[in-house]
Amino acid sequence: MAGSRIGVMGGTFDPVHHGHLVAASEVAGLFGLDEVVFVPTGQPWQKSERVVSAAEDRYLMTVIATASNPRFSVSRVDVDRQGPTYTIDTLTDLHEQRPDAELFFITGADALAQILSWRDSERFLRLAHFVGVTRPGYTLADGHLPEGSVSLVEIPALAISSSDCRDRVARGMPVWYLVPDGVVQYIEKRGLYRSASGARPTGG
Ligand code: ATP
Ligand code: MG
Repeated sequence: MAGSRIGVMGGTFDPVHHGHLVAASEVAGLFGLDEVVFVPTGQPWQKSERVVSAAEDRYLMTVIATASNPRFSVSRVDVDRQGPTYTIDTLTDLHEQRPDAELFFITGADALAQILSWRDSERFLRLAHFVGVTRPGYTLADGHLPEGSVSLVEIPALAISSSDCRDRVARGMPVWYLVPDGVVQYIEKRGLYRSASGARPTGG
């Protein structure tokens, strides 16, 4: 659609939770967005302390969580691209798919601080407007970027994180009402997050 305003919500979504959905919905309302595209990351390359769930599981949970909202969609650009996910590649791919759209990259306060510390942040300020949203436990700041390139908005505070959701499942605690019902059921069906170390290895 020519001239449409598209929100881009990147994340690991392991699992997707109501904090993500409220952030996307709130920014869509405030900025008059036509659509918000959720973009689950590919399999991370970094040696981290935990194994991230299979990209297909994270992708499907994101589809389940967003299916009922006509303005929400899910993109496979990062899941299908080989190698690590870099925000610049995500934005470049989405821009190529919709050259006429104006992109609004939505991030929580924690992720925004990381992105703004990158040296080539100027490069993707050309591709998207950045919208930083408040997140309990983090301070929202716009760094030292050109005026007008980053907007900071306050959204309803939901102290929910994917880490905490995984931890809860591992401890046998409920995640009802923290994640959409269909995601609770998918986690159970696939046996995700049962081991104390976090997510299950890919595959299985
Ligand atoms: P993890 O604990 O595994 O890091 P997470 O809850 O931080 O998971 P991510 O997939 O890492 O979720 O986050 C995707 C995006 O959503 C990031 O920009 C993050 O800042 C934002 N976000 C996540 N949870 C919230 C929340 N409760 N409120 C506002 N923004 C959030
Ligand atoms: Mg996170």
